[in-house]
Amino acid sequence: MLQNGYVVWEGSSLIDGSPIVLILTGFVNPTSNRKTGRQLQSWILSQNYVPTYAAKHGLDNSICGNCPLKLSKTGSCYVNLLTPNNIYRSYIAGNYPKFSEKELALLQHYRYPLRIGSYGDPTAVPLEVWEAIILASGKHTGYTHRYQNCDLRWQEYLMASVETEADAKQAQNQGWRTFRIITPDAPLSDNEILCRHTEDDRIQCETCLLCNGKSSKPNIADKVHGLNWKVSNFLKYLESKSN
Ligand code: SF4
Repeated sequence: MLQNGYVVWEGSSLIDGSPIVLILTGFVNPTSNRKTGRQLQSWILSQNYVPTYAAKHGLDNSICGNCPLKLSKTGSCYVNLLTPNNIYRSYIAGNYPKFSEKELALLQHYRYPLRIGSYGDPTAVPLEVWEAIILASGKHTGYTHRYQNCDLRWQEYLMASVETEADAKQAQNQGWRTFRIITPDAPLSDNEILCRHTEDDRIQCETCLLCNGKSSKPNIADKVHGLNWKVSNFLKYLESKSN
C-alpha cells in the first residue's frame, strides 16, 4: 500500500559529515502549503537532533551549512519548524519505509511535481541521490543557499537563494539563476520578475515551476513574508548588510 512518506537516503552530510536523512512526503496526503500546491515535499534532516532543538542550539550545520537565515544566526528562516519536527519524530518511530524502485516507478508514471528541499539545503545530499527522483518527477522547484560551495552541476536544478542585489549579481555571474527575497517596497532588478504566486495567489509552484534552475527564464524575487518576528529579523539583517 502506498505510504505518505519514504526514506530516500541516509548517509553523511556533504557539509560536515554527520548523519543526515532525506525523506519524501506527500504521496497520499498532499501538503496544505497554499504556495507550493500539491508538490511532493522533501526534508533534509539531521539523524541526531529534533529540528527545533538543532536550530536553537546551532546544531543544524549538517543540513543548513552557514545559511545566514538560521535561527542561531539572524533568526529569519521562513520554515515553520513544527512540520520538520513531526517528520523527524515519525522517522525516529520507524514510520517511513525505504523508498524503492516501486515508488520510483510511480513517481515516473504520475510525474508528481517535486519541491527540492522543503527544509534543509538539498546540496547536503549527494546529487546522484536526488537525480533519480528529479528525473522521474520531471517537474521540480528548488533553492540553495550554498551556491558558492556546492557542486556546480546543481545549477541545472536549483535557484541560488540570495538576499541582496550584489549577491544576486555575483551568483548570476557564476552561472546561477537567482531567487531573491526583498523588502515589500523594494524595486525589482531589470532581470527579475516577482514570484507568480505573490502576483496572483491562484498560481502555485506546482504548475508555475519557474524556480527550476538553469534556463533562459528570468530571475525571481519575492517579498519577505511569514511570522512578524522573522520578517523583522530579516529586515534587520538586510540593513546590517547594507551598512
Ligand atoms: S515563481 Fe513560481 S515556482 Fe517560483 S516560488 Fe513563485 S510560484 Fe513558486
